[in-house]
Amino acid sequence: MFCRIARGELPADVVHRADGLLAIRDIAPKAPVHVLCFPERHLATFREISLLDPAEAKRLLDFVAETAERVGLDDYRVIVNVGPEAGQTVFHLHWHVLGGRTLPFP
Ligand code: 5GP
Repeated sequence: MFCRIARGELPADVVHRADGLLAIRDIAPKAPVHVLCFPERHLATFREISLLDPAEAKRLLDFVAETAERVGLDDYRVIVNVGPEAGQTVFHLHWHVLGGRTLPFP
């Protein structure tokens, strides 16, 4: 599904796009600001992170931080759900960026 968003086949509220990476607002936000960051290239889960070369992995982490800044977040939470038992429902690697209020942990 996120592949289709990346190809422009499905609509999304894009907040940042660069270097094969995309950030969109979550369709069902769990916080006042809730953005999803993902590579356009398909990786199913974080378990496959070693398929990225070190420069790509670094760029992805930088992109998550840039996206948080771009949507106006100073304090925020970054989450990656890995597998259904952890709450993963979309099997295209993505980082949640949540903020805009005090966030209880977990
Ligand atoms: P996961 O549960 O896999 O960690 O996170 C998937 C996230 O994607 C959920 O927070 C869900 O609300 C969001 N989501 C699912 N389908 C769509 C969609 O079509 N567009 C957008 N923008 N978000 C989606």
